[in-house]
Amino acid sequence: MSLTPTLCSVHTHSCLCDGKGTLAEMAAAAYAAGVRFFGASGHSHTPIPYDAGNVLPEDPAEYRRQVLALRAEYEGRMEVLLGIEQDSCSAQSVPDWADYWIGSVHHLRDPETGAFHAVDWDAERLTAGRDQMFGGDMLALAEEYFRRVSAMADRRPTILGHIDLVTKLNRGNAFFDEDDPRYRRAALEALHHADPDVTLLEINTGAVSRGYRDEPYPALFLLREWRAMGGAVILTADAHSPETVVFGYDRAAELARAAGCRESVLLTRSGRVPCPL
Ligand SMILES: [Zn+2]
Ligand SMILES: [Zn+2]
Repeated sequence: MSLTPTLCSVHTHSCLCDGKGTLAEMAAAAYAAGVRFFGASGHSHTPIPYDAGNVLPEDPAEYRRQVLALRAEYEGRMEVLLGIEQDSCSAQSVPDWADYWIGSVHHLRDPETGAFHAVDWDAERLTAGRDQMFGGDMLALAEEYFRRVSAMADRRPTILGHIDLVTKLNRGNAFFDEDDPRYRRAALEALHHADPDVTLLEINTGAVSRGYRDEPYPALFLLREWRAMGGAVILTADAHSPETVVFGYDRAAELARAAGCRESVLLTRSGRVPCPL
């Protein structure tokens, strides 16, 4: 088969966490779209009260069972990988049964009050986090976000998830200036914590398909730096519904090429496969 990035979709969610389709519907949509390496990456359980129902249950046995049943069902036609999107606030460690894991930061925890503040939820929550934790300084929030990303990158995930998620609600620089040196320094520092020999950086179209952003994560300056570091990229849809399982891959490939990347990676059960862009 000739290789193309749409053969692989390994950042996907289902109704077992905050997605809209069942795992079976997600896999069927992927297969119909030409995906041959499909991965489920349910959100790891977190103790965050407002997150209940958006993450896998504390015991993920049913999730694992369903993914492995799909693996058997698609045997010989499509590889089904069992993954997890590990949240930085999860009390659980990365399960040893995972074929791969995506390391992501979605929330900041206020050490003084114990409250959690999502950076990707809505403007109200983001503003509350900014005001309660950082005295109204959004760049300070972004700096703290990237410190958490640095710590996640140090754990050497298979894929570093949406590294600049903190920009999700920042269309038109609504909350802060993405060219501000403080912002760029913090983002680059986090990127440098990632090991380019171990971790893939994802070009993630999830916020585009859901109407939050016009371009995939991450920003071009981060991609260029990652390439200079010798790192490889993977295209992902962060799909929360069957119809978005390979959403916007053309745009993601364009962004990768603009950063000078000539290839991306397909994640398979036997490891990385380079794929021309
Ligand atoms: Zn995520
Ligand atoms: Zn995700």
